[in-house]
This record gives sequence, structure tokens and C-alpha cells, in this order.
Amino acid sequence: MAGIYIHIPFCKKACFYCDFHFSVSFKSKADIIASISLETKRRREFFEKEEIIETIYFGGGTPSVLTMSEIDEILGTVYETFNVLPTAEVTFECNPDDLSLEYLKMLKLVGINRLSIGVQSFNENHLAWMNRSHTASQSVQCVNDAAYVGFKDITIDLIYGVPELEDGEWRDAVKQALALPINHLSAYSLTMEENTPYKKLVQQKKYSQPDEDQSSIHYAILIEEINAAEWEHYEVSNFCKDGNVSKHNTGYWQQKKYLGIGPSAHSFDLENRSWNVSSNAQYLQRIAGNKKTFETEELTMQDRLNETLLTGLRAKWGVNLVALKEDYAYDILTLYKEEIGYWRSTKWAELDGDVLRLTDKGLLFADYIASELFEDGDYSSHTSS
Ligand code: SF4
Repeated sequence: MAGIYIHIPFCKKACFYCDFHFSVSFKSKADIIASISLETKRRREFFEKEEIIETIYFGGGTPSVLTMSEIDEILGTVYETFNVLPTAEVTFECNPDDLSLEYLKMLKLVGINRLSIGVQSFNENHLAWMNRSHTASQSVQCVNDAAYVGFKDITIDLIYGVPELEDGEWRDAVKQALALPINHLSAYSLTMEENTPYKKLVQQKKYSQPDEDQSSIHYAILIEEINAAEWEHYEVSNFCKDGNVSKHNTGYWQQKKYLGIGPSAHSFDLENRSWNVSSNAQYLQRIAGNKKTFETEELTMQDRLNETLLTGLRAKWGVNLVALKEDYAYDILTLYKEEIGYWRSTKWAELDGDVLRLTDKGLLFADYIASELFEDGDYSSHTSS
């Protein structure tokens, strides 16, 4: 299985917390679209001829600032260039204020079959606080409209841990989300990233920073409501109904091959990671000059082992310890017997046959637990057995 990610680097407004690559100036939009198509053709060799593309993901930025002909041009080039499965999952990230009934109908016609809608909050004040471009009523309306025009796979994003988001209000927000015609939910804790307006506003004491304890309480509320609705918690921040996981993102977490196209997009070919330049102007110049748009880092065995641990422990499928021993000569059960015993006693982790996986409670600490188990850099000390 392989996937293609297409980064659309434009947004109408800059959300205060966001550290993704985007521009609020649309001057270069037509040139970027043309360059994305050119880059797609140039990277034909990334996949073997017979390799099947099972997922396509438009992310950003805000893909829903694109016109239908722009989406059609990009998708047409992808289908002409690669061997795309006719039933491929084609996800399109969008903001509620862009999703008119007409636009939704056209998205279906052009070949989008999964929508990822940036709802973030049902509280108008919080949306304004985040500098989002839409209202809560637009969010509810567009999700219902999307279902009405026939989208069966709809996911929305929510943010918790927002200062002044009361626990009860967060519980109501999760309930409201789960009552919408969606089959997937991503919920993220608000974080204060470097070089964001949010960080500056906190430094200027105009905004308060997220409170970790409050975030943990919100996470617990989220899990309670997910369980009550009999949804599945399949990755730290991702939840679905009736097995409708995000196939594209599952590909990332299960370390499948993917190609990223567009400014700042990342790629992974099973041995190397590469990332395109995070500047629209430089991206355009490099494409126009027929120059390489990306830098590459070859992954060491240690990198791959640690990524296997991190992505596996963040997900419901966990880490197969026998496979880890065979692939990396890394015997976690022997090396970390005490730690694993402790996490099992606190019900943060469980051993299911050969698989170590975290519980709902443990998933809150997935990054910490994985980092405790990481190979420490002296790889040879674990490979002599
Ligand atoms: S719309 Fe999305 S990508 Fe754009 S600024 Fe907001 S969070 Fe970031």
C-alpha cells in the first residue's frame, strides 16, 4: 500500500496556534497549482510502475480554497502519472466556510470521497479566539450538507485544552460531534508551538497558555464519551465508528511508503525521509529551474526501530515484540522488564501474546512511554545476540 499527499499552501486567515506551512496571500496560487502538477510528473519514479496507490490526501493549508478546475488538474495529473486504485480513498481537508452545497456536490463529482472538516470548536468565542475563518453554525450546517449530498466518509477535527473551555462544555462538544453524520473524529490538545502568533501572544501576556492538567481532564472526558458511543479509539488522537479508520494516516503510522507533493510536503520511501522546501517562492523557483525541491535524510536502523515503537504504541495495534526482536535484534521484554511490569500494574499497558499495547489510560502518555523504550544510540550493544 502506498499513498500520495498534496500540500495546498494557502489559508484565508492565520489561526493563531498553527505552525503548518501556508500563505494568506493567494497571488501565486495559479503558479503553485501548475508547479504541483509538474512536480507530480517529475516524481514519477518515486513508485515502482506496478506499485498501487491506495490513498490520496489533500492537506494544507486549506485545500478548499481551490476551484474545481484546480482540483481536477491536480487529481488528473496524479491519475495519469501513477497507478491509482479505482477505489482509492481520496481525502480533502476543508474549512466550513468554503463548503457551499454547490461546492460539496462538485467535490463529489471531481472524485473526492472523504472529507476532513476543520470544525475545531462549537463555541463562537473560542473560534474567534483562535482566529478561525468560520462560525460554529457554518460547521454544523456543512457537515449536514456534506452528508446530504452523499458523502459517507466524513471526519472532523476538534481542539481541547483551550483556556476557558469548561469541562462540561467540552463534554457537550464531544457529544454534539458524535451526533453529527460523521464516522471519524480527530481531537487534539491545544499546543503552543514555536514561531506561532499564539506563542507571541502568550509571551506578551495577552493570551494564556494551555494547562496540561486541564488537557488531561478533557482527554479523559473525550475517552468516556467515545466509549459511551461505542466508537473505536484507534490512535492517540483518532477515533472512528464501524472500523472507518483513516487509511491514509494509518499508512503513515504503519510506515508505508508515501510521496508528498507541494511546498513543505514530506515523503517516505521505506529507507529515506525527504521534505520539500517550506517556502512558496523557493518552491516555484526550484520547479521553474528544474531543480530538486527536497532534502533527504537516510534513516538509520535506530531511527526505524524508534519510529516503529512510537507509531505502534500510539495506535491500537501496538508493537509486536517478536517482530521487533527479529527485525532489529531488540529484546524489549528483557531490556525493560521492570518498566513494562510497572506499566502493566498501573494499567497503562497490556501484553496480548507477542504484542505490547497501551490502554486508553496509557495512550495519554504514549510519547513518554515510547521514549523510555527507545533504543539509546548504542545500537551495537543490542545487536550482538
Ligand atoms: S486553516 Fe488550518 S492550516 Fe490554515 S492556519 Fe488554520 S489551522 Fe493552519
